Amino acid sequence: MSAEFIFPPPPCPSVAIAQDARRFPVRRIFCIALNYAAHAREMGKEPAKDASAEPPFFFTKPADAVVDSGATIPYPTLTNDLHHEIELVAALGRGGSDIPVARALDCVFGYATGIDLTRRDLQAAARNAGRPWDMSKGFDHSAPIGAIRPVAEIGHPTRGRISLSVNGVLRQAGDLNDLIWSVPQIIAALSRNVALAPGDLIFTGTPSGVGPLLPGDLVEGEVEHVGSVAVSIEK
Ligand code: MN
Repeated sequence: MSAEFIFPPPPCPSVAIAQDARRFPVRRIFCIALNYAAHAREMGKEPAKDASAEPPFFFTKPADAVVDSGATIPYPTLTNDLHHEIELVAALGRGGSDIPVARALDCVFGYATGIDLTRRDLQAAARNAGRPWDMSKGFDHSAPIGAIRPVAEIGHPTRGRISLSVNGVLRQAGDLNDLIWSVPQIIAALSRNVALAPGDLIFTGTPSGVGPLLPGDLVEGEVEHVGSVAVSIEK
């Protein structure tokens, strides 16, 4: 007998797939911190020197934080310092626990370009107080993401320009080649923390140049060979 719910279950959050009418159902959103040396330094942190020896730091966003490219989103509450972070996103079609690095890429269905929106003032306050980051990272509409391009089409990008502009002015530029922890290393490490499953999204970190967004801004990001994402902030 199937379960009865006291009210209708919420709709499944999902992400567009390029040239496919079907959508990618989102289970969880994981993010890695400080995965480009220049960004670690701009945040006042020393970058990890040996990715195979040092475990990365992960945080999460709720699945329903995803926003399709082309949307207009509200400027979030409780902040005066909303920041953009352009990121390569890996979308998992398979999961598992304790996945070896050598098998990790088998889990990836495809890749997308995402923006890890951050209430930087709340993050700094949490960090200074030794408190969790949740409300600085996992707020409503905090994960804009473009259409997923399947691995079958683009393979596994390991180099290529990653960039973001605001109102046509370049703010962030880097190269996937500068990731400290590679996508396979991220998946392997994350799968030691929790069991991964189809529908999981992994934001792989941002290059340097993060900065503030204002009401009315148009934010456009691109990852070479992967695709683009664009959102507007409500006036
Ligand atoms: Mn980030």
